[in-house]
Amino acid sequence: MKIKSYFRRCNLVMLAVPAAMILLVSALFLALFILKFPVEQLYVTRIQLLNPVLLFDAALKFLSENPMAVGYIVLWLVLCVIITVAATFIATSKMSKKITSSIEELTEAAERVKGGNLAFEIIGSDMEEIDELCVSFDEMRCSLMSAEKNEAALKNERSMMIANISHDLKTPVTSIKGYVDAINDGLASNPETLRRYLGVIRSKANSIESLINNMSTMSRIEMSRLTMNFDEGEINDLVYETAAEYRADAELAGLALETALTSEPAPVRLDYEKFRRVLINLIENSIKYRRAESKKIRLVTENAENGVYVRVIDDGIGIEKEELNRIYDSFYRIDEARTAHIKGSGLGLGIAKELVKLHGGRLWLVSEGRDKGTTANIYLPYALSENNH
Ligand code: ADP
Repeated sequence: MKIKSYFRRCNLVMLAVPAAMILLVSALFLALFILKFPVEQLYVTRIQLLNPVLLFDAALKFLSENPMAVGYIVLWLVLCVIITVAATFIATSKMSKKITSSIEELTEAAERVKGGNLAFEIIGSDMEEIDELCVSFDEMRCSLMSAEKNEAALKNERSMMIANISHDLKTPVTSIKGYVDAINDGLASNPETLRRYLGVIRSKANSIESLINNMSTMSRIEMSRLTMNFDEGEINDLVYETAAEYRADAELAGLALETALTSEPAPVRLDYEKFRRVLINLIENSIKYRRAESKKIRLVTENAENGVYVRVIDDGIGIEKEELNRIYDSFYRIDEARTAHIKGSGLGLGIAKELVKLHGGRLWLVSEGRDKGTTANIYLPYALSENNH
């Protein structure tokens, strides 16, 4: 009900109730008068007193003969005033209680919010305008609560990420220091061992570089400061070069890194460095999430009608179906005992997906499930120049 209609209704009650009660009291007084008046003095019957003219005459006679009877009129007047005041008081206090209880509830709620307590619920009001206010207040409380939750989750994710990144940086640094010390101590006694040690150092430095690049790309994506430098390029060349660059890393993990590239040209609009980052992230994941039985990683390109598919196929630990949609979220890592020992920042796939999108393409991962390997698929449209498809 609207406040205005409520006030109108209360005003009506405030008029109708005292009027009815005054009428009742007056009727009682008149009935008593009719019953008690000595009718023989006026030579009329009691029934005839119901005639207003005769009743008026009787009243005048009674008043002139009994001056004390004015007291009855005063009593009647006092009763009328009491009835009016009591009815008005009861109606207004009921009315104000109804409004103030909701306002008091809102004030109390505002105090709670100020004190940081958001876990309560606001009961609405019968009055439309106040109820709307209660609803808006409750909506504000809910959005503050979810913002608080998000902030806590974000804080948690950030601290997890810092912990993971520190671990990711510490492991290769420790390893590099170990190999450098070994070389200094003369343990790399022949050129072959020295070449192997340097290979490991190079591979560990690659992973540090990759992590730092991911972090800086992520922060630039978050701050919308990522600029793309597109050139028309041949995707096969980039896949081939990146594979050559990461072959040693894969071999160190006991995996062969094979390429099966389409013989047809596949010219696309490429930001060379950023797309290289995409491939590196996918290759690094295939190395990281290998099984003891894993043998190889395959980089494949396939021409389609309007674009080219690039696939990174591994025979690693695979991904459960229900996890496949969530792995692209920033900082998301599958929480499983079998991957607990593999550290990561949870940034790789999110960045890769965003960078592919900026190339006008799509990235999606497919896996048949646990231990069934994973295929990362990328689709890139062909560059739209005259001499192409
Ligand atoms: P992380 O730094 O954890 O590797 P990513 O964003 O690259 O972060 O990957 C998110 C999650 O997806 C990983 O934690 C991992 O569980 C899963 N994942 C990604 N690539 C693969 C893959 N090739 N095989 C199995 N699981 C993968």
